[in-house]
Order: sequence, then structure tokens, then C-alpha cells
Amino acid sequence: MTKQLLGKPVADVLRQSLREEIREIKAQGGKTPTLAILRVGDKKDDIAYEERLKKNCLEMELDCRSVSLPEAAPQETFLATLDALNKDDDVHGILVLRPLPETIDSRLVSRAIDPSKDVDGMSFENTARICSGDTSALAPCTAVAVIEILRHYEPSLQGKEIVLVNRSMVLGKPLAMLLLNENATVTVCHSKTADLSAVTRRAEIVVTGVGRPGFFDESYFAPDAVVIDVGINFDDQGMCGDVVRGLGTVAAVTPVPGGVGTVTSVVLLHNVLRAMKLQNGGRY
Ligand code: NAP
Repeated sequence: MTKQLLGKPVADVLRQSLREEIREIKAQGGKTPTLAILRVGDKKDDIAYEERLKKNCLEMELDCRSVSLPEAAPQETFLATLDALNKDDDVHGILVLRPLPETIDSRLVSRAIDPSKDVDGMSFENTARICSGDTSALAPCTAVAVIEILRHYEPSLQGKEIVLVNRSMVLGKPLAMLLLNENATVTVCHSKTADLSAVTRRAEIVVTGVGRPGFFDESYFAPDAVVIDVGINFDDQGMCGDVVRGLGTVAAVTPVPGGVGTVTSVVLLHNVLRAMKLQNGGRY
């Protein structure tokens, strides 16, 4: 029988440690940890995500500030807004909602965001530090969420054959580096990979993130594989992952919804506290 690797138990553990840290900050009389969300335009998905994050912050007693710019905002205005958040001592974490409009060069943003406030690991500095194996760097929340789930359910990742089907900067590339730190053997696949199923079938763990509903059926996995489904898609039955619904031929799979996404949002709040510490030389 295929085990469902739920995100909730992982998120609950993270939430508990978050609560303890927040209690400690309050006991020390520190500032309230504050996340600023920078949004360009009024995309429905962005606004819904922002609302969810505000609710999560409220529940965990973090402050959350929304800063929004019109879709047509010039790049200079965006960079000036980001710079003001970088310099604001009452803002500890900055989340830039992506994708940004094409008028804004995301490489400039990766250079402009203060790496110590970069709670979704988009800056070049954090990318370089992750590649060099520096575990104190702020890494993209989705990649960290996958690591948290694997650490929770797998006794060890050392020597495991792990295949990632994604090479984006928010998932596949940083995750490959984080998994190398765990001494896993990592293969990164993408849309030009020849004979994808032959590669995924030899893996002990497969992480899917292609963004296509039900793309992966049983033919892609070994019978004892663990599958981490990062995809968030919608079909006529509602939200779904990249893996076909009800896959019952592998050892374990994360459900969608209720899997990786549940953990990602808590990781973001953790990163706000880690950012706060980085800014204060290791203290709150
Ligand atoms: P992305 O930038 O579009 O990346 C998609 C990746 O899938 C690319 O590397 C692409 O290859 C690869 N791909 C596409 N079609 C493929 C195919 N037929 N065979 C093999 N590889 C294929 O997307 P993303 O931002 O990384 O997000 C990926 C998914 O994760 C989306 O569904 C997104 O909604 C979801 N997501 C979930 C969370 C969460 O918390 N659960 C957070 C963020 C994103 P190329 O590089 O060759 O194009």
C-alpha cells in the first residue's frame, strides 16, 4: 500500500519550534519579526497567496506588511521600493512575489535584494552560498520544504539515488545543492531529458515539479520509490499535483493538496526569524 506523506506533521513540528523562538524573542524584549511582501500587479493567485501568508503571520504573531505596485510600474520604481525595504530596520524579511512582469529584470532584483532579508533565497549571494555548502544561507522555501519532508520521513538521505524533475531557481537547482549537502546522489532532469521515465525509474526518491496535472503515472516510478510531488496545478476536479491522483504503485507519495505546500508556508516564516538573527549578528 502506498503511504501518504502528509505535510501537516512536518509543518506542526516546524510551527512548534517557531512558537518557542517567538516566545524567546518576546522574553528578550525584541522587535516583532516582520515580513514585507512586495507585489507587482493584481494577479488573482498572487493576492490569494498574500492573503494566506498574512493569515499565517497573524496566527504565529509575526507582523506582515504588503507593498504593492501597479503592473506598469517602471523598473526604477520597483528597485527604489525594494531599496526602501532593505533599509527599513523594522522589516526583517522581504518576499518578492514571482514571476515579475517582463519589464522588471529579475537578475537586477537578485542583485538588489539585501541577502540578509532574502527569505525566499533569490539573491545571487544566497545562491552562491548554497552552492558552496553554507548551511546558514537563506534558501528558497520550496526547496527547503522538500528537505524538511524528506528529513521527517526518511531516516537518512546519505547515498540515496534522488532524481529531480525540475531545474528552476526556486526548486531544482537549489534543491540539488541542498541534497548534495545531505550526501545524496542527485540527478536533475528537465524538458530536454532523453527517456525521462528510464531515469526516474532508477531513483529511490523522485521529486516532481513540472507543473503539469497528472503528468507522472506508475510507469515513471520503481515500485519502492518515494515520490515528492511539488506541482501545484488545477484540473476539472480542482487542485492537483504532477502525479496522477490515487497513485498506488509506489512506497510513498506526498498528496496535493496537503503535502509540500503545507510545509512551504511555515518554512517562509522560519526564514523570517533566521533573517532577523542574521541581521542582528546571531541574536534576535
Ligand atoms: P518552472 O520554472 O516552469 O519549471 C518547470 C520545470 O519542469 C522546468 O525545469 C522544465 O524544464 C521542467 N519540465 C517541464 N515540462 C517537462 C517535461 N515534459 N519533462 C521534463 N521536465 C519538464 O516552474 P517552477 O516555478 O519551478 O514550479 C514548478 C511547479 O511547482 C509548479 O507546478 C508550481 O506551481 C509548483 N510550486 C509549488 C510550490 C509548493 O510549495 N508546493 C512552490 C512553488 C512552485 P526546462 O527547464 O527544460 O523548461
